[in-house]
Order: sequence, then structure tokens, then C-alpha cells
Amino acid sequence: MKLILTPQQLPDVESYNVIGNIKGSEHPEQVIIVSGHLDSWDLGTGAIDDGAGVAVSMEAANLIQKLHLKPKRTIRVIAWMNEENGSAGSKQYAKDHEKDWANHFAAMETDGGAGHPLGLNIKGKREVKTMFTPVAAVLQESGAGMLVAVEHCGADIEPLEDAGVPAFAPIQDSRFYFNYHHTAADTLDKIVPKELAENSAVVVVAAYALANSEQPLPRSEPDRH
Ligand SMILES: [Zn+2]
Repeated sequence: MKLILTPQQLPDVESYNVIGNIKGSEHPEQVIIVSGHLDSWDLGTGAIDDGAGVAVSMEAANLIQKLHLKPKRTIRVIAWMNEENGSAGSKQYAKDHEKDWANHFAAMETDGGAGHPLGLNIKGKREVKTMFTPVAAVLQESGAGMLVAVEHCGADIEPLEDAGVPAFAPIQDSRFYFNYHHTAADTLDKIVPKELAENSAVVVVAAYALANSEQPLPRSEPDRH
């Protein structure tokens, strides 16, 4: 077999995370991050990795506006730049906000495609999962009521996880994800609109529950690795 490989590492150029806030009505300084990543591999269009995650996060904000909900804490939608090639965007955000971790209430990232959601992954203290039981009961009506304790929820929110901020991610049906992931076949026709919408529903329910939680969530010890 003969392979001809053409990748090249070019110098960095300036680029940006894209960030929008729905300001909290009672604790505007406290932030819940809802996110996906903006960049993709250049073979396909990056529809499932991670256009879907950005769309789901933006739609969560859109649903809050449409339903005239008033989150008490700020919901911050972030489309991270450069997840695929070094995570420069999330690293820069971490640098810019490292003195402000106490005000980061929770972080969420959707980066597993657009498949039907089954529930939520949670990285945090065991009590966080217990506190989320009533939220899971709401989500169970659409078959998305699983709560699973995990070690890691998303590449871009890893700096927040390391700082002890509770982290969340929808559990997505990933049976077909790796058929298309990082290939020329990662295009919009692989996305089922209904399943994409189901993911937005899970993310918005979780984000709104976090934004309006009466109690603070217990934080993990910062992990300095
Ligand atoms: Zn991704």
C-alpha cells in the first residue's frame, strides 16, 4: 500500500471564541456555560463535529427567549475555537477567567454529534447527581432521564472541570458518530432534525435548572495536573 499524505502545520492566525450571554436576573455574575466548538476538520463541513453542538447550544438560548423564561444566573453560550487542533480557544478563555472560577456555576458542552439524547453525563461530586434527580425526572418523559457520573464531559470545558466547576454533557446516541467523524462524510445530511431538537431540549432543561437552582452546587477539589 502506498499512502500520500498532504497535511501541513501552518503558523497560527488570529481567531476567536464566539460568546453570547443571557444575563441572569438575580445573580448576573454567576455563569452557566452552554457550548460546542466552532472549528472542524477540513475534510467535510463539520456538521456533526461540531456544528451540531453549536446549534444545540444556540437553540437552548433561543428556547429560553421564546418561552420568556427568566434565568436567575447568566447563561453563556460559547462556540469554542480550535478544539480540534490544540484547544487554543478554551485555553485562552481559561487564562482570561482563572480569577473568576468561583462565579462559574457549571459548564456544559455538546460534542458527541446530533444523535438522540439519553440523559446527562455529570462530572462533579456525587451530591450533584443527587440534586439533579428531579431534573432527570422531567427529562425521562422524552427518554433522556439517565444520569451518569463520568470523569470527563468535554474537551473545551476541561479547564473548568480541573478548577472544580461541575460539568455536564448530553449523553448522545453515538452508534453512527464514528462512521462520519473527522471524514469527508461529516455533512448536514447525517443530521436528523428531530434528534438535534431533542438535544437542545435536554441542554435547555439542564441549563435552566442550573440557572435557577436555589442551592449552590458542591464543587470538586481543583485538580492540578
Ligand atoms: Zn468535536
